[in-house]
Amino acid sequence: MKIKNYINGEFINPIQNNWIENYNPAIGEVYGQIPDSTKEDVEKAVEAAKKAFPKWSNTTLDKRSKILSKIAALILEKLDFLAAAESKDNGKPISLAAQIDIPRAAANFQFFANAITQFSSEAHESVGLNAMNFTLRQPIGVVGCISPWNLPLYLFTWKIAPAIAAGNCVVAKPSEVTPMTAYLLGEICTEAGLPKGVLNIVHGLGTSTGQAIVEHPNIKAISFTGGTATGAHIARVAAPMFKKLSLELGGKNPNIIFADCDYEKMLATTIRSSFANQGQICLCGSRIFVEEKIYDRFKQDFIEKVAALKVGNPSEKDTNIGALVSKEHLEKVKSYIDIAENEGGKILLGGSKVVVEGNEKGYYLQPTIIEVFDNQCKLNQEEIFGPVVTIMSFKTDEEALTLANDVKYGLSATVWTNNLNRTMQFSKQLQTGIVWVNTWLMRDLRTPFGGQKASGVGREGGFEALQFFTEAKNICIQY
Ligand code: NAD
Repeated sequence: MKIKNYINGEFINPIQNNWIENYNPAIGEVYGQIPDSTKEDVEKAVEAAKKAFPKWSNTTLDKRSKILSKIAALILEKLDFLAAAESKDNGKPISLAAQIDIPRAAANFQFFANAITQFSSEAHESVGLNAMNFTLRQPIGVVGCISPWNLPLYLFTWKIAPAIAAGNCVVAKPSEVTPMTAYLLGEICTEAGLPKGVLNIVHGLGTSTGQAIVEHPNIKAISFTGGTATGAHIARVAAPMFKKLSLELGGKNPNIIFADCDYEKMLATTIRSSFANQGQICLCGSRIFVEEKIYDRFKQDFIEKVAALKVGNPSEKDTNIGALVSKEHLEKVKSYIDIAENEGGKILLGGSKVVVEGNEKGYYLQPTIIEVFDNQCKLNQEEIFGPVVTIMSFKTDEEALTLANDVKYGLSATVWTNNLNRTMQFSKQLQTGIVWVNTWLMRDLRTPFGGQKASGVGREGGFEALQFFTEAKNICIQY
């Protein structure tokens, strides 16, 4: 099957007619093609977006909100179909796509359909100066949204929904590794009555199509989610052009477990926070630090429970761990397991590729637990982004905090404790954008979402996203 670009409300071939192969990771075979779009395709998308902007930016909030709600409803109506498409394209278990990815994509549209009707700006009197100030929050114009492969429709819509709710027109690029549900979103938007040109979806490689979006002088803001190295490159290109930038980047998140925690809840959640989506979630807790008092108990129980997870065909309902997203990514993740012993680590469980019967060419890996003794090892300092976690013990609160913060990333952290004082100390001192205490990946969409340090710049979610996608203008009137 051939995926096409969605420009000005129509599905069209790339101008140069060049194509990229699209793989099904569960079976390791090509199952379609996607446009290898060039600058010219991006230009066409920008033109369509520019043309649509004057009308869309003056469309009432009520009308915008209704269209976004309709998109949300259509996503839910097609949930099974979209979940199957996401699972096939990405390798994730179909059950995960049906429970998390697709419902969240719908929730993104519904959330911003509601949020835009509540978004307002402020007015201030300059007392004694006979002046009034008010703030206009105007849409920026044409904005670029670029997303990664791990939560394809979920993260793609997390950017697009607030951008169009705020009155912008969008040129968006999904990952070339997982383009399918973004393609299907085009049809849904047309069906929901989104005017032509408000959302344009251009497929292709990061270094050509993505780069053309970042470089385009008429794209005034870039919202990017992906790797830290790509984010740094995008910042170098976009900053001298004075574009607004939101960068959601990599992570190496600590999961800190104290002896006073609710043990069973912690254990069940830690299995998810380690291996959900094959460990390919930027928020996964890949560095597990356990208080010495319960270290041996945890180690034994964790190994036992993880060993029982089923690695298998993503389309089977009882599969816990599907395929990794691509052959290249599988090799990258495996390369970290291969250096584990040289880095002073000890593989406690897993470590090998898995051959799944009937899917012999698929990209499967055992969930892997590595015991480490030094936080400075590569396994604890570099983002692996696969079903691989390290475990290490600590003795004191100070030691745990130092270990957690001693890394270049700062996306999220999880703390398991029932001690209120410790909860507050860690919440204040962890150098991350998100701290979960006694839970993981609980998301209230009103909260600010993003990272510190090498995990990014800016915040998404709630009104933060609507602020990012608008320019604030001060109007000062003297009377
Ligand atoms: P990536 O950086 O390789 O690619 C992300 C997107 O950027 C893709 O669409 C890609 O085509 C595009 N791209 C690549 N080079 C580009 C360029 N020069 N100009 C413009 N666009 C370009 O990342 P990935 O491998 O797709 O995703 C995995 C990474 O994403 C991990 O590091 C993960 O932690 C991170 N991530 C972060 C968050 C977050 O919210 N912080 C969420 C999910 C994933």
